Amino acid sequence: MAIAKTETIWMNGRMVAWDDARVHIMTHAMHYASAVFEGIRAYDSEAGPAVFRLDEHLERLMFSARVYRMEVPFTPKQLHDVCVELVNVNRLGDCYVRPLIYRGYENIGVNPFGNPIEVAIAAYPWGQYLGPDALSKGVAVKISSWQRMAPNTLPAMAKSSANYMNSQLSKMEAIVDGYAEAISLDTSGYVSEGSGQNVFAVIKGEVLTPPVHNSLLAGITRSTILTLARELGYPVREATLPREMLYAAEELFFTGTAVEVSPIGSIDRITVGNGGRGPVTKALQDAFFAAVRGQNPKHRDWLTPCRAAAPAGNAAAPGVSAAAVPAARRA
Ligand code: PMP
Repeated sequence: MAIAKTETIWMNGRMVAWDDARVHIMTHAMHYASAVFEGIRAYDSEAGPAVFRLDEHLERLMFSARVYRMEVPFTPKQLHDVCVELVNVNRLGDCYVRPLIYRGYENIGVNPFGNPIEVAIAAYPWGQYLGPDALSKGVAVKISSWQRMAPNTLPAMAKSSANYMNSQLSKMEAIVDGYAEAISLDTSGYVSEGSGQNVFAVIKGEVLTPPVHNSLLAGITRSTILTLARELGYPVREATLPREMLYAAEELFFTGTAVEVSPIGSIDRITVGNGGRGPVTKALQDAFFAAVRGQNPKHRDWLTPCRAAAPAGNAAAPGVSAAAVPAARRA
């Protein structure tokens, strides 16, 4: 899926043209994956675009940076304002927002200290991650032969770029073998997560998802679905799942910012339910899309409206004003 470029990217306190958002080849992160990031969506609505659970994403970003001892030279509030500003300056509606914190150019030893901590954020349109029919039809999924990282190797709860080398092994294997996506087991053999999404199973009417000790990212969509499922009255539980429980499920689905709520039609070529989108998945999908589009008054606080962010008549963007940029970063 080629990236749909927009006009402006924010880098280290400045708005730059998309084509000028470049790094040096000797940037530490290029060699050692010393970076953490987020994936966030904004959704259009009658009231204009709004970013979904922006502050929760930025909280996780800061947590990921903390795990890797990165001292971020911007506050979450500054990054919050930049995300909103990017949706606006690029005149976006439905879109994806990608903040990245990385170790820059200075030293090239494995010791990461001494390299500058750089921050960039891009925003651009993005469609359905698993293809145009993925939300209405189930996708074919396999269990990967690659396990998710063991807990004391690379921390799965930190959204670091390095973790996505593991994800890429699973994803490539799935594609080469004719599947849309893969689910990895953890190193104890229990269900962990997809290459870029969490997994839910509906078993005997219960909505189940593995807990974080099964080596997974605590997805913000996962938490959204846990909340919405409880509100809809389903029995909901975090449960460690052996692989074969997936074959017993009435319904399986993925959750994630990219995949949103995507039904799984088969697992290892064993059909799940009717092979399409089951009724619980459909109900949760409907509740999810109502929430992200501002149609659930109870969860308006999950949304950061973009067009309302800049006070009327104030052209200066909060995220790009000189005051928002630490002195050391001002060009
Ligand atoms: N697991 C992995 C490995 C992911 O990359 C993602 C996407 N960020 C998720 C789970 C889902 O997380 P979220 O719902 O916060 O996007």
